[in-house]
Amino acid sequence: MARVAFIGLGNMGGGMAANLAKAGHDVRAFDLSAEALERAAKAGCKAAASAAEAVADAEAVVTMLPAGKHVRDVYESSVIGKAPPSAILIDCSTIDVATAREEIEKARAQGYAMVDAPVSGGIAAANAGTLTFMVGGAEEAFARAQPFLEIMGKAVIHAGGAGAGQAAKICNNMLLGASMVATCETFVLARKLGLDLQTFFNISSQASGQNWSMTSYCPVPGVGPETPADRDYEGGFATALMLKDLRLAMEAAQSVDAYTPMGSHAEELYGRFAERGGAGKDFSAIIKMIEDSWTPPLQK
Ligand code: NAD
Repeated sequence: MARVAFIGLGNMGGGMAANLAKAGHDVRAFDLSAEALERAAKAGCKAAASAAEAVADAEAVVTMLPAGKHVRDVYESSVIGKAPPSAILIDCSTIDVATAREEIEKARAQGYAMVDAPVSGGIAAANAGTLTFMVGGAEEAFARAQPFLEIMGKAVIHAGGAGAGQAAKICNNMLLGASMVATCETFVLARKLGLDLQTFFNISSQASGQNWSMTSYCPVPGVGPETPADRDYEGGFATALMLKDLRLAMEAAQSVDAYTPMGSHAEELYGRFAERGGAGKDFSAIIKMIEDSWTPPLQK
C-alpha cells in the first residue's frame, strides 16, 4: 500500500480520499477548511497541517480543487519541489486546458510525472467510487496513475497527451449543456402543441431525437426514469458547475478558433438562469426558465 497525499477534501475530494483510505492506502490529507479535514480524518485519512506536509514523502499526490488558479497555487507553492520527484502527481479538478498543460510541463521540467484526470459523475459517484476518469498525460504517467484512479472510479480512460483529459471533459459537458437546453425547449413546445408529455417521451426516446438528457435525465417531473426533476431539481449536477464547464469550453474554443454556436448559446442561457437564482438547482431546472420566458409563469 502506498503513501498518498490528498489535497482538496470538498464535496468530491472527501469521498475520493475516503475510498483510497478504505482500500488500505496511507492517506495524508489537507484542506484549508478545518471542517473538511476533520471529516476526512473520521473517514480514515491522516490530517496534515499543510499541503507541503501532506506531500513530504508521498508516492502519489491527488488534488481535487475548485479551479485552475487553486491548482496552480497548490502545485507551485506546495507540491513541486516539496514532494519526492518519484511521486506521481494526479490532478482530478476540472480546470482550463491551458493551465493543465502548463502545470504538467512545469512538473515535467522538475522531474515529475503528472496527469490531468478530471471526472464525470457527481458527489454520489465520488462517495461510491464509481467516477469516470478522463486522463491526459504521457503513457507511462497514465500507467502509474491508473491503479489509484481505479479505486475511485468505475472507468479510467486515457484520452491522450497533457490536457487531453480536460479537453474531453469540457467537450462532453458542452454537448450535455446544449442537449439539455434542446431537450427542455422541445418538451415545452410539445406541451404547448397539446401533446401528453409521457406519450411524447415514449415516442421521442425511441425515435431519432433520442438523447441522454431525455432518456436518462428527463427534465420533466413524472416523465421517464426518476431524476432530479422529481425532487424539485435538488441534488444532481448544479447549474453553477454546468456554467463553469461551459465557460471553460468557450475559453478553449476561442483559443483554437473553433466555432461553437450551440455551446455559446447554452453558456448564455445557463448564465441567465444562474443570475435568476438557479445556480444551486440541478441543471435540468433550466426548463422552468424556458417555460417562463415564453409565457406567463405556469400555475405550479
Ligand atoms: P468543493 O468546493 O466542494 O471542494 C473544493 C475544496 O478545495 C474545498 O474544500 C476547499 O476548501 C479546498 N481548497 C481550495 N483551495 C485550497 C488550497 N489552496 N489548499 C487546500 N484546499 C483547498 O468543490 P467540489 O464540488 O468538490 O469540486 C472539486 C472539483 O471537481 C471542481 O473542479 C469541480 O468542477 C469538479 N467536479 C465537481 C463535481 C460535482 O458534482 N461537485 C462533478 C464533477 C467535477
